[in-house]
Parts: sequence; C-alpha cells; structure tokens
Amino acid sequence: SATPSATPSATASAAPEGEEGDAADLATQSLLMKKLHSKLVQTKSDLEVLQKDPNSPLYSVKSFEALNLKPELLKGVYAMGFNAPSKIQETALPTLLADPPSNMIAQSQSGTGKTAAFVLTMLSRVDPTRHYPQCLCLAPTYELALQIGEVTQQMSQFMQVKIGYAVRGERVSRGERLTDHIIIGTPGTVMDWGLKFKAFDLKKIEVFVLDEADVMIATQGHQDQSVRIHRGLRKDCQMLLFSATYDEPVMRFAQAVVRDAVVIRLRREEESLDNIKQFYIMCRDQQEKFQALSNIYGTISIGQSMIFCHTRRTASWLSEQMSKEGHAVALLSGELTVEQRSSVINRFREGKEKVLITTNVSARGIDIEQVTVVVNFDLPIDQKGNPDCETYLHRIGRTGRFGKSGLAINMIDSDRNLHNLKKIEAHFGKKIYHLDAEDMDEIE
Ligand code: ADP
Repeated sequence: SATPSATPSATASAAPEGEEGDAADLATQSLLMKKLHSKLVQTKSDLEVLQKDPNSPLYSVKSFEALNLKPELLKGVYAMGFNAPSKIQETALPTLLADPPSNMIAQSQSGTGKTAAFVLTMLSRVDPTRHYPQCLCLAPTYELALQIGEVTQQMSQFMQVKIGYAVRGERVSRGERLTDHIIIGTPGTVMDWGLKFKAFDLKKIEVFVLDEADVMIATQGHQDQSVRIHRGLRKDCQMLLFSATYDEPVMRFAQAVVRDAVVIRLRREEESLDNIKQFYIMCRDQQEKFQALSNIYGTISIGQSMIFCHTRRTASWLSEQMSKEGHAVALLSGELTVEQRSSVINRFREGKEKVLITTNVSARGIDIEQVTVVVNFDLPIDQKGNPDCETYLHRIGRTGRFGKSGLAINMIDSDRNLHNLKKIEAHFGKKIYHLDAEDMDEIE
C-alpha cells in the first residue's frame, strides 16, 4: 500500500528546553542514524543472552536459508542485498521465528540489524490471504514509522502484503474495518484506531513490536499509550521490544510490557584513549583560538578532522573564518533538517570536505572512521559547567574497530577551562600535553 499522503517533513531539532525537547532530539538523532546506516555496523563485541529457560539450547544460524522462510520472503531478503544474518540476527531470528512464539527484548546500537529482524518476523508470521491486521508495530515518531514501513515494503516486495500507517494525518472513517495486514504507527493514533474507533481488532494481532523503546519512554504520553495498547492484546500474542540503550527505566518498561522474554544484548565496544595523543593550547580569547587553529592547519598535514564547538553560533562563526582562509569546511548544525544533516555527513565521509565543524548535539553518536584529528574548540561541559568526561571520550576515543592512532587538541581560554581540562586528565589518567601555538614541532 502507499505511504501516507502528507509529505514527511523531517523536522530539525530546534528543540525547546526540557524533557519534551530531549525526546524530540532523541527521535531526530535516531532517524538520522537510520538514514546514515546504509550498511550494517559490524561489531566485535559479544552477544549476551538471558533466557527464560536457561536449560533450553540456544540456536543460532549462519544463513537465511537455515530459517525455513517462505520462498517469496527469502527472495525479498536477498533482493535487499542481505547475504547472511548480522550478529544480532544470527541469535535472535531462530528464537523469533520458533513456535510457539517467544517474547523478546533486544538491545544493540543503531545499525546492527534490529529493524530487519523484526520486519522479517512480522512478514514470516503474516498470512496475506486473511485481510485484517495481524502485526502491529509502534514507533516513537511519524518519520520513524515511515522508515520501518519502507523496510517492510522492500522486504515484502514479492509478497501480497498491505501496510497501513497509523500516523498523524491518516484517518479512518466511522465503522471502517482495516484490511491492511501490518499496521505501523505511533502510539496515539494506534490507540485511537484500535481502542476508540475499533478499526481493527487488537485481539487478532499475532506479533506486537515496540521499536525504539528508549525514545518511546522519553516521549511524554507514549509509555502510557503503549501500555494501554498492550493491554488490549491477547496474552499469547508475540511481543517484541527493541532499544538502542539499556538504561534502568527502559529495562523496567521492557520487563513490564514484555513478559517472560528472552533478552538479547550486544554491548557497544568500549572506547578508549589508548592510541590518542592529547594536547592543549592556551589562548586568550576566541579570536586567538582561531589563530592557533589556523596555525595548526597551516603547519601539519591533517587528513580529515572534526572540530567541536559549544554553541551553534561559535560553530557558524568558525566555519566562516575557516572558509575565508580557504579551507573546505562543512558545518553540521542543529538548524538543519535530518535530510540536510545526513547529506552533510555523507559528503564528509566521502572526503568532499576535510574539516567538519559541529556542535555536540548535532554530532552525537556519529562515527566517522577516517577522522584522525579531533579539535575541542570548546571543551565539553555539562549544564552545571563541569567537564563532561563521557562526551570527551566519545568525541576523541576510538573503538577497536578504528584501530588507527589519532590526535586530540583542546583549545583553552580561561582558568576555569584549564581547571576542567585537568579534571578530564585526572579522570582518564592520561596525560594531556601542553602545546605552544607558535611551535607545532611537538605534534609530529
Ligand atoms: P537497526 O534497526 O539496529 O538500526 P537496521 O535493521 O536498520 O539496524 O540495519 C542497519 C543497516 O544494515 C540497514 O541499512 C539494513 O538494510 C542493513 N542490514 C540489516 N541486516 C542486514 C544483513 N543481514 N545483511 C546486510 N545488511 C543488513
């Protein structure tokens, strides 16, 4: 079936303060990740599995053939260019597709193949000859629901499956009974359609998916709505919950809605500062920071680099200054839509620009392998003005995947900043060397 008529406007996260803003920001971030991950993210970390029955053997598959999928579904999987299951799919799919169905809670970072896994599960359980909703998938936003719909459409291209979108702007008329096989939507609209208008029967749902549970519970009202939808389902409906993070509130929510679940977790690889040489440069003010930076770029040969600023304003000022000096810079900032951001990042990945200037929020969670120099034009600080060590590590640290060595340069323009830098140094127990802006020899 067709996607909703209204054009999805992937809104920028000009997010207001407070929780609501954070949730919008999380959802935007999540959508950006989906758009950026056109390939699987490979990880070396181990999979942890917690089973309801620890004695039952754990199956894992190395091929899609081994799953005994319907031929038209297998054809769809191959048409998407998937040759073999991803790490999380190897273990999750046999359990997801087994009968009687098991519930599952799965956590792994974005890009590791969760969406493909639950879409495959829905498509493998749906009976296209019965014309009513049999699978229901909840997502936190309109855009994320659409994204899941696109994957479903692709994977079911050789099947006769109708997808319905329960999202804002889509209406059902009084007394209408939906004939879609799979409903994908946001909690509010799904609740209206299922409970208020009874446009479909929740009792006939065989597979219930809660995607992006972490973003879901950060969004006001979504948690309660999801719980109410969940209450309308049959006890033996297969319930699946996916999340990129594994915080306490997410897990509490997960355990409450998905009972007796097999829990699968793929830990994120640890980042470390081991291969990174860290420096700091003392400057008097922003102008001097720029001069020092410009000096660095003029002295040493730098492959690709990222420069972090505290505010959008500084970021755009700096990008202007650097452009004037003839550097090919890209600016990644919060004003951009998700489409624009992913295009900026993709251009940078392709090497079209050598310098990416960004704020913290815009670059959260973005891994760009070929970056060898990271500059903190401003040190990462939290809302209280204390050093934010986690963000520092995430900007500068490397995982085992990117074994390369790197260089980190911190620009310091006040005693307070210097104090914060010393705290960061103490926190990680790794020396951050002083660098004379006039004499770059020490770097090389
Ligand atoms: P997640 O939901 O964990 O973010 P996705 O299911 O969206 O991950 O997968 C991330 C990317 O990898 C997508 O572009 C998807 O098409 C691709 N992908 C998923 N599973 C496989 C697979 N088994 N083989 C190859 N590519 C895959």
